[in-house]
Amino acid sequence: MIIDLPTAVDFIKKGDVVAFPTETVYGLGADAFNIYAIKKTYELKGRPSDNPLIVHVSSISQTEKITKNLPDRFYKLAKHFWPGPLTLIVEKDSSVPDQVTGGLKTVAIRMPDHPVALQLIQQTGPLTAPSANKSGKPSPTKSEHLLQDYGESLPILDGGSTSIGLESTILDLTTDAPEILRPGSISHEEISKVLKVEVTAFQEKRASDSEPVKSPGTKYTHYSPDAEVKWLSKIPNSLEINALYVVHSQNQYPDSKNILSYNGNFTELAKDLYDIFRTADHQHYEKIYIEELPEQHEDRLIPALINRISKACKK
Ligand code: AMP
Ligand code: MG
Repeated sequence: MIIDLPTAVDFIKKGDVVAFPTETVYGLGADAFNIYAIKKTYELKGRPSDNPLIVHVSSISQTEKITKNLPDRFYKLAKHFWPGPLTLIVEKDSSVPDQVTGGLKTVAIRMPDHPVALQLIQQTGPLTAPSANKSGKPSPTKSEHLLQDYGESLPILDGGSTSIGLESTILDLTTDAPEILRPGSISHEEISKVLKVEVTAFQEKRASDSEPVKSPGTKYTHYSPDAEVKWLSKIPNSLEINALYVVHSQNQYPDSKNILSYNGNFTELAKDLYDIFRTADHQHYEKIYIEELPEQHEDRLIPALINRISKACKK
């Protein structure tokens, strides 16, 4: 059900959960201090309770109230990248319920760069907001996706399509060398430049090997459409009829309804990726072939695209 901003504020204050737009994907917002609302969030999403939530804020002073010992690095990064798609992991204050952080002593925080999200949070205070998809589904990037997952029962603030389409970069600021735990549209080079220290880039392998998982969410399967997703090095001459082909190189491809061509526009591909996954399922494609992305990171979105597509391939 689509609602307006004052209604959304009322719902959140009553302990309800409301979906709202951010620049990355839609979030499922709840009052970060209300453990019943947080429980509802986990239940609605079907999310395991050890997978902590990101707290969304609209000001630095809100951040200061829910954290301890904020390092200089936090202020440098917030000044440069907030509001924006960078989530920072810092020490939590005891006012943040353990249910928010899955029992961790740290909390993930971000200020979203979206007018609707900021207006909402200014009026409600900090909101926990995981991506609003049902657990295991691709993140929602438009209100239609929310209707697919929840039907009419979920209150939704509609802000149209999200502009980035992939979840935020997550950076751990609790270790000597800051480390990227999830790649997003802000790259490790950009962060290193602002901090003037070398930030550890995201290591694609870590999530699947036996090392302890630093970001609990990375051990779960995410972003999987029902169709099988596969990387493809070259588009074959004869296409499979039940497959959707997603290509990005600037070669000429035959005009066919099952070829989606991005001509080197990775910004557009990131924006569309989850909609492609969902639409492919809707149209009963059995497979989605995605042209391999260049290893050389010629675009800052490539590590995040490789991460999300590789996860969808695993299933
Ligand atoms: P989502 O809400 O779906 O965008 O996922 C949030 C991600 O943030 C998950 O992968 C969590 O594991 C990660 N996260 C949240 N809080 C923390 C934390 N305190 N330490 C490490 N990772 C976190
Ligand atoms: Mg998610």
